[in-house]
Amino acid sequence: SAVMEKILWRRGLQLRDQQQAWQESLEGTRMLEFRQSLPAYKEKDAILSVILQNQVVIISGETGCGKTTQIPQFILESEIDSVRGAVCSIICTQPRRISAISVSERVASERGEKLGESVGYKVRLEGMKGRDTRLLFCTTGILLRRLLVDRNLKGVTHVIVDEIHERGMNEDFLLIVLKDLLPRRPELRLILMSATLDAELFSSYFGGAPLIHIPGFTYPVQAHFLENILEMTDYRLTPYNQIDDYGQERMWKMSKQAPRKRKSQIASTVEDALRAADFKDFRPQTRESLSCWNPDCIGFNLIEYLLSYICENERPGAVLVFMTGWDDISSMKDKLLAHPILGDPSRVLLLTCHGSMASSEQKLIFQEPEEEVRKIVLTTNIAETSITINDVVFVLDCGKAKETSYDALNNTPCLLPSWISKVSAQQRRGRAGRVQPGECYHLYPRCVYDAFSEYQLPEILRTPLQSLCLQIKSLKLGSISEFLSRALQSPELLAVQNAIEYLKIIGALDENENLTVLGHYLTMLPMEPKLGKMLILGAILNCLDPVLTIVAGLSVRDPFLTPLDKKDLADAAKLQFSRDYSDHLALVRAYEGWKEAEKDLAGYDYCWKNFLSAQSMKAIESLQKEFLSLLKDTGLFDGNATNYNAWSYDQQLIRAIICYGLYPGICSVVHNEKSFSLKTMEDGPVLLYSNSVNARESRIPYPWLVFNEKIKVNSVFLRDSTAVSDSVLLLFGGSISRGDVDGHLKMLGGYLEFFMQPAIAEKYQTIRREFDKLIQN
Ligand code: ADP
Ligand code: MG
Repeated sequence: SAVMEKILWRRGLQLRDQQQAWQESLEGTRMLEFRQSLPAYKEKDAILSVILQNQVVIISGETGCGKTTQIPQFILESEIDSVRGAVCSIICTQPRRISAISVSERVASERGEKLGESVGYKVRLEGMKGRDTRLLFCTTGILLRRLLVDRNLKGVTHVIVDEIHERGMNEDFLLIVLKDLLPRRPELRLILMSATLDAELFSSYFGGAPLIHIPGFTYPVQAHFLENILEMTDYRLTPYNQIDDYGQERMWKMSKQAPRKRKSQIASTVEDALRAADFKDFRPQTRESLSCWNPDCIGFNLIEYLLSYICENERPGAVLVFMTGWDDISSMKDKLLAHPILGDPSRVLLLTCHGSMASSEQKLIFQEPEEEVRKIVLTTNIAETSITINDVVFVLDCGKAKETSYDALNNTPCLLPSWISKVSAQQRRGRAGRVQPGECYHLYPRCVYDAFSEYQLPEILRTPLQSLCLQIKSLKLGSISEFLSRALQSPELLAVQNAIEYLKIIGALDENENLTVLGHYLTMLPMEPKLGKMLILGAILNCLDPVLTIVAGLSVRDPFLTPLDKKDLADAAKLQFSRDYSDHLALVRAYEGWKEAEKDLAGYDYCWKNFLSAQSMKAIESLQKEFLSLLKDTGLFDGNATNYNAWSYDQQLIRAIICYGLYPGICSVVHNEKSFSLKTMEDGPVLLYSNSVNARESRIPYPWLVFNEKIKVNSVFLRDSTAVSDSVLLLFGGSISRGDVDGHLKMLGGYLEFFMQPAIAEKYQTIRREFDKLIQN
C-alpha cells in the first residue's frame, strides 16, 4: 500500500503540472479571465476555507453567478494543487440530465480538457467518465442508485447537491439519505447550492451549517403584464364565442386588426372578456382559484405576435420564451416556422431547449447568432435556473410549468401544467438582465400574478406519495413512515398511511410493506402506479397500442372538449366513439381516427369536427413513445408485437387491463325500472360527470364501473369510467399475483356483501371455491 500511495502521489504531481500548464497557456489565461469575472470567483477563498472547516456548507447565489460551473471546479483545483488530485472524488448532482451533460462539457472546456478526463458525467443510459475522472456531474437519480449498492459512498470525498431551491422530490429524498450517512463518514464534505436566499431551512436541517451568499449583479428588467402588453401592441382580446382554429381550447379569439385603445379601455377589455367568459367575479385570491384562468386562451397567437413585434421594433438581443412542455414547444415551433419573419433563417435563429433534447442540440443554444439574426429560444422551465443563456434581453413568460422527468428513479406523475410561484416568475424575469437592461412580458394579468403563491410547495408535499413510497422500498430504506418523518418537510402521516394502504391493495407491497414483484416493476415506471400497472399488463398480454393510448390519455389534459355554448354538440360527438360503455375505449377510437386522419394530413380537421383537442392528441402520441421506451427498460417488452392481441378484436381484454389499473376505483351499478344508480363503498351514492359516455346511457349491462378519478363538489362525481363484468373484476381487480389472492377476495367479498347483490355473491362464492382449490394446490 505504500507503493500505491507513491503511485497516487506521483500521479497527483502530474495532474498539478498539467493544471498549471493550462492556466499559463494563452487559451487558459483567457478562460481564467472569464471565470474571474463571475461573482463566484471573488468568493473562492472564503468558500474553500469554509468547506475545509465544516462538514456541511450551504451556498446561495443568483442564477448565472457561477455556482454550478465554478464551485466544483474550485474544489477540484484546490485538491489538485495540494497534490490530492489522484485521490479526491467529487460528485455534483443535477436535477435534470441535460444540465448534468451541458455543465460537465462546459467545465471540461474551462479546464482545457475533453470530457471524460478529469471531468465527466453520468445520466440514465448515458455517460462519459474515465479512469481519471475526479469530478462527476450526475443526475440526482444516479447518485440515489449508487447509494443502493454503496451505502457509504466509499472513496467519495465531496458531494455537491445543486439546485436545492427547487425542492424536487429526489433532492429532498437524497438529503435524508445523506444526513444519515454523514456521521458514518466524518471526512465526507457535503455542499448544498441554491439559487434563492431562503437557505436557512437547509442550515437548520443540518444542525446550523454555515451559509455563504455570493452577491450577484444583474441589470434591471422591466416587467410587462398582459394589460401593458395589450396597450403596447395592437392586440385586442375579444370574448371568445366561436370555435377558433385551435379547436375550442381558447376562450378568446385574438384579433390583430383591432384599433389601438387607450389604457382605461384596455383594462376594461380584459374585464369584459373575463365577464363574457363567465368569470363575473374574477378576483383570484389563491392558487386554486386560478384554475378559471386558462392561459391557453392567450397562448400561441399572442406569443407569435409578440415575437414578431420584438423582431420588428426592438433592439438586438436574444429572446427566451418559457412554455410548459415539449408538446407545446414543438407545436409552437411549427407555427413559427410558417411565419414570414420568424420562420426566415436569415433573420431568426429559432431554437428549442427542453429536458429530452440531444446534447448536440444543446450546444446550439449557447452559440452566438450572426449579426442581424435574432436568436429565439423556446424553453421549458429548465432555463429558469439550471441553464444560463448569456445574451438574453427579452423574456416571454406563460406563467405555467410542467414537470416532466423520465428518470427511472424520479417517479413524478406531474404531467399537467400548473401555475408557477412568484419566485419562479421573478427568476424568469431575471433571465433578461444578464448583459444589459431587459424586458419581460408576462402573458397574464397582474391580478393573476398577485394570486401566485410565494414559493412552489416542495414536490414531496404536492405529488402523490405512492411512487415515493415505492422508491423508499426499492432503496431498502426501511419503514416508509419512519423514513419520511425525517424529511426536511415531512408529508402528513395520514397521507403516508393512505399511500401505503393503497399500494397494499393494488398488490405492489405485501402485508409487511415489502416490495412485491409487481412493485418492483412499478418502481421502474415513472408514473402513477395505476398507469404503470396497465402498461405492465398490456405488455404481458401483448395489446400495448390501445393501452398506451389510454395511459397517455389519462396523463394529458382531457382530449374531449366541452365548450360551454356547444355542450350538446360536443357530447354527441363523443358519443359517436362510444360503443362499449367505456370512456377509455371511446378515447382509443377517437385517437385511432385521428391517426388515420393524420396520414392524409387531415388530423386538424378531424379534431375540429369531433370536438377533440389537437394538442392533446399530439401529446398522447409523444407520450406513447416515452412510455414505450420506459417499458423496454423494464425488460417486459422486447420492442415487437405491440398488437399481437389488437384491441379491435378483443375489447374485453382491454377492459380487463383498465380494471387491473383502476382498481380499487370501483362502483356498483344498480338498475331500477327507468335507469340506474351508482354507489361506491366509501361515498355511498355517486354521480357521473356529465361528459362521460355512460352518463348518456339508460342501462348499463354490467354490474360495475371502474373509474380513474372522483371529484367532490356537492355530490361525488366520477370522471372517465369503464363498465366491467363480475369475472373481470374478480380476476383483475387488485392483485393477480397468487400470494395476494386471498386478501383480495376478502376485499371483494366485502364489496359484494355491502351491496347485497345475492346473485353475484353466489357466483362469487363459486369462483372463490375454485380459487381456494387453486391456492391449495
Ligand atoms: P449558476 O450555477 O450560478 O447559475 P453557472 O455556473 O451555471 O451559474 O454559469 C456561470 C456562467 O458561466 C454563466 O453565466 C455563463 O456565462 C457561463 N456558462 C455556463 N455554461 C456555459 C456554456 N455551456 N457555454 C458558455 N457559457 C457558459
Ligand atoms: Mg447552476
